[in-house]
Amino acid sequence: MKIKMLDLRAQYLNIKEEIDLSIKEVLESSNFINGDEVKKFSKNFENYLKVKNVIPCGNGTDALQIALMSLNLEKNDEVILPSFTFVSTVEVVVLLGLKAVFVDVFDDTFTINYKEIEKKINSKTRVIIPVHLFGQSAEMKEILEISKKYNLKIIEDNAQAVGTSYFFTDKKYKKTGTLGDISCYSFFPSKNLACFGDGGAIATNDDNLAKRIRSIANHGSVEKYFYEKIGVNSRLDTLQAGILNVKLKYLDKYNEKCKSIADFYDSKFYKIEDLQIPKRSKNSTHTFHQYTLILKNTNRKDFMEFLKTKNIPSAIYYPLPLHLQKSYSFLNYKIGDLPVSEFLSKNVVSIPIHTELIKEELNYITENILLFFNKN
Ligand SMILES: *Cc1c(COP(=O)(O)O)cnc(C)c1O
Repeated sequence: MKIKMLDLRAQYLNIKEEIDLSIKEVLESSNFINGDEVKKFSKNFENYLKVKNVIPCGNGTDALQIALMSLNLEKNDEVILPSFTFVSTVEVVVLLGLKAVFVDVFDDTFTINYKEIEKKINSKTRVIIPVHLFGQSAEMKEILEISKKYNLKIIEDNAQAVGTSYFFTDKKYKKTGTLGDISCYSFFPSKNLACFGDGGAIATNDDNLAKRIRSIANHGSVEKYFYEKIGVNSRLDTLQAGILNVKLKYLDKYNEKCKSIADFYDSKFYKIEDLQIPKRSKNSTHTFHQYTLILKNTNRKDFMEFLKTKNIPSAIYYPLPLHLQKSYSFLNYKIGDLPVSEFLSKNVVSIPIHTELIKEELNYITENILLFFNKN
């Protein structure tokens, strides 16, 4: 058996007719930029998220950059974000001349530790960027309370948790990405809602922010050839929007599939003392962009090599936290500053989870992982 970390081809073949038709329609219209499918996608995604405005853009990194640009921040204003995440989150902060301030994450849900946020707030702090990592919401009730208390904006990095719901204490729920001021999406092929190339979007319930965001993504222009602000060029192309209109219909089903795989893994692994299964936050559903285990008393390299000999891929998200990356050394963080992020980087491992995994493959994966721990 040969297992894949992701099987985009098999997923495509299952919805081939619809996808091919959508691509064909765009080719025939030849409306490649801002065609009907783009407008349709904005509407569809607004309805899905239950949010007032969706502005499509080129990718998730652009989404974060444009979101920050829309907040009228000044040089050296401070932005709080976790260190245990993908690099985009900090990259755009620094590129815009803002100061990135890292906060540690919880050691079981991997999301930003809100208890640490308040310690990092000062008179220059303007924004918090919680990342809904691996498919699970950050602890938004507490983060929203902090943002109110200090008058901060919240940009949710929702690249990994599209379709996830957050539950408030009164059992009311909202989708992640509709909790803060602005939220950002990536439709990179490996994400839960994915196109066949690069794509992204920004969502907000604030109509004024939406207007600014739309303009910034379009060279800072409101009226063609007149520029009020310096902007960027960031668009979702019509072909990708057409693909997303098809795939959005399947998103809940895909997320359910990933959750059922995670439930199966949990049922096989929870008894293994040297494995910590991913904790489910009581305030969030989980859409399992990744299924990430924490290894205890186990050499990660040995574990991954064993799996490799069985044709089971595995991956490390993320092997070095952002505060210790060479490119961000000028921020003057050192080893020991964010101990949980550092611990996780050394001990996490993600195993295959995707919509096309079949029962035989899941049995094969779990049997081999059980075998590894029994013989050790
Ligand atoms: C994928 C991802 C991004 C960036 O998305 P791109 O489309 O690759 O630019 C940003 N943040 C997180 C947490 C991501 O996982």
